[in-house]
Amino acid sequence: MSFSLLDLSEPLLRALDELSYTTPTPVQLQAIPAIGSGRDVIAVAQTGTGKTAAFSLPLLQRLANGSRVKPNHIRALVLVPTRELAVQVAESIAAYGKYLPLKKGVVYGGVKINPQMMRLRSGVDILVATPGRLLDLFQQNAVKFLQVETLVLDEADRMLDLGFMDDISKILGLLPKRRQGLLFSATFPNAICTLAEKLLKRPVHIEVDPPNSAAISVKQWIYEVDKGKKPDLLCQLLRHNDWQQVLVFIRTRINADRLVRILANNGISALAIHGDKSQGIRAHALAAFKAKTIRILVATDIASRGIDISELSHVINLDLPKVAEDYIHRIGRTGRAGLEGVAISLVSADEVNLLSAIETLIHQQLVREVVAGFIPKQNVPLTRLMKARPKRPKKAKQV
Ligand code: AMP
Repeated sequence: MSFSLLDLSEPLLRALDELSYTTPTPVQLQAIPAIGSGRDVIAVAQTGTGKTAAFSLPLLQRLANGSRVKPNHIRALVLVPTRELAVQVAESIAAYGKYLPLKKGVVYGGVKINPQMMRLRSGVDILVATPGRLLDLFQQNAVKFLQVETLVLDEADRMLDLGFMDDISKILGLLPKRRQGLLFSATFPNAICTLAEKLLKRPVHIEVDPPNSAAISVKQWIYEVDKGKKPDLLCQLLRHNDWQQVLVFIRTRINADRLVRILANNGISALAIHGDKSQGIRAHALAAFKAKTIRILVATDIASRGIDISELSHVINLDLPKVAEDYIHRIGRTGRAGLEGVAISLVSADEVNLLSAIETLIHQQLVREVVAGFIPKQNVPLTRLMKARPKRPKKAKQV
């Protein structure tokens, strides 16, 4: 099956050809005709399935055939949860729409608002935005929503996790009632179901993988290790394996910086991206990682959104995420578009409950591996901890 059978226009096919996209992915096969016909769509698709092209291609095609955009107006709005994802999606849209005479824009917080206001002055056909900055721009009269024909919510589950529900509701209230709605989400919790009811009219449901299943192309295993020994184990793994690009996830910003210092002390250069870093530093770190000038990128969950590095081979979870769904987002950074990837988690005794939540979510038990020559100092094997019933608290001694 080739893209030409999906009724896409010649300028789009030319751009796809340049990007060497030959075959549509399953989500693209289903979403492109539905969106092209004007239907609302809800798609449960994991990261890395090609969902950006799935909504952008038919959207660009429809916009190219429609009316001109007025000053300060926009015709399609793509809402995303983070700055990184905003940049990533905008880059993809620019690449797909390279040969179409459409105005494309992107707005997100953490950078000066003035250049974004200037860009909006002549109107933008398709705008990618994070919710907070979009509302700021609206309050300053820099953007008007009367011409909006389509709204896309990308990584909708993540938006809710990050507490954007209020902002999204405000934005929904400002948009014209008659418009197309598209909702993309990697997971499908009840909250997404409720949001879909608010946002969409008789949507086409698309599900390319069973919800909450992790990418099959990603090999996953864990190492059981004492909490304090995790950095040592990581250094050992990085030293003894010829892994070209490794994305290391860690829960907190402080620990991300600390880990970069530990790695540096061990002669391994790495950079960190997290919410405390300026947009410039985050962009620099990401660019260095993509250009392979650094081998290790340490990221927190929020900052990791939107990281799309083709052929990223390894993801290492230095700790497990608090929310099990984030495990799917994390490992979705590798094994993209059908490529093989490896996701390794270093799990300590205090994380047994997080591990069982993840294993329940992905419907599989992760393989326990051991590293030759590494003594993890894990006193009790995790499997025993997981099976052990919680002990009754001892009665306090009466004195
Ligand atoms: P996404 O799920 O949109 O983040 O896309 C994941 C990756 O797959 C990106 O690097 C895209 O450039 C790539 N991609 C998307 N669609 C295709 C396709 N049909 N053929 C090859 N690569 C694709």
